[in-house]
Amino acid sequence: MSSATLPLVLQRCPACGHRMLARRLYCPACGREGPEPCESSGRGRVRSVTTVHRAAGPSPLGPAPFTLVLVELEEHCADRVMALARAPLPIGTAVAVRRLGPAAGAPYLAEPLAG
Ligand SMILES: [Zn+2]
Repeated sequence: MSSATLPLVLQRCPACGHRMLARRLYCPACGREGPEPCESSGRGRVRSVTTVHRAAGPSPLGPAPFTLVLVELEEHCADRVMALARAPLPIGTAVAVRRLGPAAGAPYLAEPLAG
């Protein structure tokens, strides 16, 4: 991991173990207050792919067309991560997801895992 890369942080419910990407005050599965942060490996599989041909502006990887993927994380997170990809990836491809910059709101990038 480069020094400019933030870990992918999820929230985990201490009561039922439900994991979520979106920040919440209550667990949507059991209603318990106070989900706790937990770090994700960033590994997962592509579940959806789209090519954006018209965009409001360029992506961090360049102007349109560019590829967006939805990634299901291996931690069985309830939310899928929307990430940029350098090229269209087949559904089911094993990828690693990381942020493209140090800011907490920086977009995600999905890169295929070798093997
Ligand atoms: Zn819960």
